[in-house]
Amino acid sequence: MHFYSTKDSSKTVGFKDALFQGLAPDGGLYMPKSIPVLNTDSFNSNLTYPELAVGMIHPFTKDDISKSILTDMCESAFDFSVPIIELNENDSVLELFHGPTLAFKDFAARFMARTISYFLENENQELTILVATSGDTGSAVANGFFGIDGIKVIILYPSKRVSPIQEKQLTTLGGNITALEIDGTFDDCQQMVKTAFRDKDLLNHRLLSSANSINVARLLPQSVYYAWAWIQCGKNETVVFSVPSGNFGNLTGGLLANKMGIPVEKFIASTNVNDVFPKYLSSGNVNNQEAVQTLSNAMDVGVPSNLERIQNLFYDDVDQIKVDISSWSFNDEQTKIALRNIIENYNYLVDPHTAVGFLGLEKYRDKTHSTTKGIILSTAHPGKFHDVLEPLVGEKIALPEQLKFAMIKEKAAHYMSNRHSDLKEFLLTT
Ligand SMILES: *Cc1c(COP(=O)(O)O)cnc(C)c1O
Repeated sequence: MHFYSTKDSSKTVGFKDALFQGLAPDGGLYMPKSIPVLNTDSFNSNLTYPELAVGMIHPFTKDDISKSILTDMCESAFDFSVPIIELNENDSVLELFHGPTLAFKDFAARFMARTISYFLENENQELTILVATSGDTGSAVANGFFGIDGIKVIILYPSKRVSPIQEKQLTTLGGNITALEIDGTFDDCQQMVKTAFRDKDLLNHRLLSSANSINVARLLPQSVYYAWAWIQCGKNETVVFSVPSGNFGNLTGGLLANKMGIPVEKFIASTNVNDVFPKYLSSGNVNNQEAVQTLSNAMDVGVPSNLERIQNLFYDDVDQIKVDISSWSFNDEQTKIALRNIIENYNYLVDPHTAVGFLGLEKYRDKTHSTTKGIILSTAHPGKFHDVLEPLVGEKIALPEQLKFAMIKEKAAHYMSNRHSDLKEFLLTT
C-alpha cells in the first residue's frame, strides 16, 4: 500500500516511510492510496481483538510487515480488554481506557512503538520521536516507547494546561523520555513539532519522527475498535458513533473503518467550546482559533490537524462531509450537568471527555428522533480526572493502580518558550 500527501497526491511513499516521516516533506498529511473494502461477513464475534486488528491493518502494511509479525505486534500491543457497556437498549459505551495510561491513545501509541522498533531493529540508527500533547498522547507514547533501545522520545506539553495526573504521567518516566514544558498552548506545541520537521538543519542532525496524529500509523489502529464495537453489538444494519473530538484523529480512524465496510448511519463529532469543526460544517469555512481551556482538556485544540484528512477523504466537499458527520459543541456547564445525569440515570461515572460524547449523542437523538443503536466512545478513565470529578460527584474517586506510582514520583521537565529557535537549539545540543 502506498500513501500520498494531502498536498500532492502524485507523490507516494510506502508504509515505512510514511511512519518515519510523520509529516510529508511538502507539509501535507499522509493518506492511504486506496481503502480496501473488507469482507465484513467474516467478522464474527469469535474473533479476538488482535485477530480483528490484523485483518484490518494488514492490507495497509503488507508490503513492509509480514502477517505473522503483524500478528505478534497486535497481540502484544492490544493485550487489554475493550469492553462495551450497554446503558439501555439503544445506547452503549465503548470503553477505550483499559490500556496502561488509561486513555484511548494507548491503542495507537503501542502499535506505533512496535512498528517503529521493528523497522529499527537491524539499523544502527538512533531515532528521536517528537510529540506534542494536549494531555494524553504524550504519556501513551512515552509509555509505549519507554526503555526501547535506539529511541528517544521528546514530549512537548502546554504548561499549566494538562491535569496534575497527566503532568505526572508525562514527566516522571525518565530514561529515554524527556518532557519539555512549553510556555504556550497545545496548538503552539503542535506547530513547533511541525516546524521542526521542516527544518533541514535538524533533519540532517538527527533522525526525527512524530507520534502525533499527523502520523498515519496512528489512524490504522484507531479504526479497529469501531469494527469491534459494531461486532460486539451484534452487527446491526447501521450504528451511530459519538466521538469526543479535538484533533480529529480518533474520528478519522472511524471514517476509515466506515470506508472499509462498517455501516454507520452517522458519526457525531462532539466537541467542547473549541468548535472549529462544527462551525466548519455549518459555514463551510475553516477558522482556526486560539485554544480555550476546558474541563475536557485533551480536546482543547484550536487547529485540528486531521481536518485536512477529512476534507481529503470527501474531496473537499463540505456537503458530503455533512452526510456522514454531524457536529456540535458543548460548554463546561453542560458537561458537568451531563456527568451528573449519567450517574443518576445509569449509575455510571464518566470522565469529562466522554461526557461531551454523551451530549453529542443526546443532541443527535433530539434533532433526528433516530433510535438507531448509538455507541459513545469513552476516551479516558474517569480516575484520570478525579480532581475535577470529586467536587461534582461529592465523593472520593479511587485512583487507578497504574496512576498511584506516577503520583509519588518527582516531576522532571525542561521549561521552554514556544519559539522554534529554542526547540531547535535543544535538539541540536542534546
Ligand atoms: C486525545 C483525546 C481526545 C481527542 O481525540 P482526537 O483524536 O484528538 O480527536 C478525546 N478524549 C481524550 C481523553 C483524549 O486523550
